[in-house]
Amino acid sequence: MITQNNSKYFEQILLAMKYQILELDKTSEESKKPVLLDQSSIGRVSRVDAIQQQQMAEASSRRRLLKIKNIEIALNKIKLNEFGICTECGDDIALGRLEIDPTYTKCVNCA
Ligand SMILES: [Zn+2]
Repeated sequence: MITQNNSKYFEQILLAMKYQILELDKTSEESKKPVLLDQSSIGRVSRVDAIQQQQMAEASSRRRLLKIKNIEIALNKIKLNEFGICTECGDDIALGRLEIDPTYTKCVNCA
């Protein structure tokens, strides 16, 4: 069972994770800007490069959004006193597992 102390601890971790991701997202805003199709200033190869970089930035931005969603779900579970309970079998998720990633929603056996 996750104790009151533990859930406070994981809440802190989750909030820190969220903050970090939001900060990362801010710094990558630059690379998400549309690639200018200005042939005169950059050649074809570097344009393809720039488009690839932009796609990569978008993909990691999507991953970050998904992570934030999972963090929100975990934070909500803490509020509802459902944090650390496997959504599959209803058993407790091992503390060590939550230490690795507090957004895990399943125990080792069900994951
Ligand atoms: Zn389970």
